[in-house]
Amino acid sequence: MESDVIIIGGGLNGATLAIALARAGLPVTLVEGQPLEIFTAEDFDGRAYALSLASKRMLAALDLWPLMADEAQPILDIKVADGRPGEGAGFGAVHFDHAEIEEGPMGWIVEDRVVRRALIERLGKTPGIDIRAPARVADHRVAANEADVVLESGETLRAKLIVACDGRGSPSARRAGIHRIRRDYGQTAIVCAVAHERDHGGIAHQLFLPAGPFAILPLAGGHRSSIVWAERPALAAQLKDAGEDEFLAALRLRFGDFLGPIRLAGKRFTYPLSLSLAEKMTAPRLALLGDAAHGIHPLAGQGFNLGLRDSAALAEVLVEAARRGEDVGSPLVLDRYSAWRSFDNTTTALAMSAIDSLFSNDNPLLRLGRNLGLAVVDKMPGLKRRFIREAAGLAGALPRLLEGRPI
Ligand SMILES: Cc1cc2nc3c(=O)[nH]c(=O)nc-3n(C[C@H](O)[C@H](O)[C@H](O)COP(=O)(O)OP(=O)(O)OC[C@H]3O[C@@H](n4cnc5c(N)ncnc54)[C@H](O)[C@@H]3O)c2cc1C
Repeated sequence: MESDVIIIGGGLNGATLAIALARAGLPVTLVEGQPLEIFTAEDFDGRAYALSLASKRMLAALDLWPLMADEAQPILDIKVADGRPGEGAGFGAVHFDHAEIEEGPMGWIVEDRVVRRALIERLGKTPGIDIRAPARVADHRVAANEADVVLESGETLRAKLIVACDGRGSPSARRAGIHRIRRDYGQTAIVCAVAHERDHGGIAHQLFLPAGPFAILPLAGGHRSSIVWAERPALAAQLKDAGEDEFLAALRLRFGDFLGPIRLAGKRFTYPLSLSLAEKMTAPRLALLGDAAHGIHPLAGQGFNLGLRDSAALAEVLVEAARRGEDVGSPLVLDRYSAWRSFDNTTTALAMSAIDSLFSNDNPLLRLGRNLGLAVVDKMPGLKRRFIREAAGLAGALPRLLEGRPI
């Protein structure tokens, strides 16, 4: 099959972009280094994603949402506080209630394997996607009118445009000479699911502890939550392999007992946390998308949401260009994508870094300031509504897919 676009990387972002482009009539080749089946294995990835309302609308427009809706938990409320292990939350806390906006829940929590299963099913049913998996890309080269992707098997694929969705270390970006801004947060996220006696009521909790943010994300069914616990790397490594009783004792110091007795409901996973922001989103005949463009701190659960915003914008730019008979890999077309997405990506990545720096410490003066600040914000309904609209992904000039409309 001939396609004008080759997507390198079939993770969450590469797979979504392939579906968005093919459904709008632009055939693509999707190259993924790993066999797709392993993505849905129980122990492949422990994450659960907070997906914004706009992201959900996009997944619905791509016929992906019906494949995950039954296992998605609406977020009805978010509680944010500053605290210390064993002491619970400080005096200042912000409470974001979904009822503050008319559109309904500001987001949903969906487990990684549920999202992956939906993507794989839809990939298989969407005409116009040539899937090469497992197939690793060894190199790529660009010329004036086309680009070549060389697979490790020796085969060469040719297209007008390469889209790099190959993750935060993006080998494609490196080959194109795109530099990255990097920052090691000195934190490792411990991720696991816990079962608890009381119903979580759809409330997500974010507790800023001195070692890093600690999130409790409600999962479908009411009695399970996903934990994202940013901790110093040495302690995180120790806790990952600790016996269950030792791990749960440390977890309870942070989780508290407001949901009754807790127990582990699956494996523990760890993810080292760092910022990895590409200095530009395009190079000749190459566009970066998702973590290949911006690997950010997960404290507000924005990474995949940003990737979906990239996919929605790039798909709209490319499909419109193709309909007008333009070369989809031309600098003019790529500039439109970059102009649409660079500001949002950079400001979100840097905002997450700034919030982490402000909150992840035990400075008593800063702690007092944080608690006062949170208490003040909680009394400002207008500001809170703005935050909720941001979290729901409703701010700014939205591409059609994020409004739930086809391209
Ligand atoms: C602890 C944690 C919690 C998070 N929580 C949230 C959340 O609540 N909400 C949210 O929106 N985001 C969240 N994120 C962010 C989200 O997980 C990422 O943004 C997202 O998974 C990135 O997907 P991607 O497809 O861009 O990259 P990746 O998942 O890294 O995929 C890259 C793909 O490229 C393939 N590849 C690489 N090199 C090659 C090659 N040479 N040839 C072929 N294939 C190749 C890889 O095999 C891989 O499949 C979280 C992240 C972390 C660490």
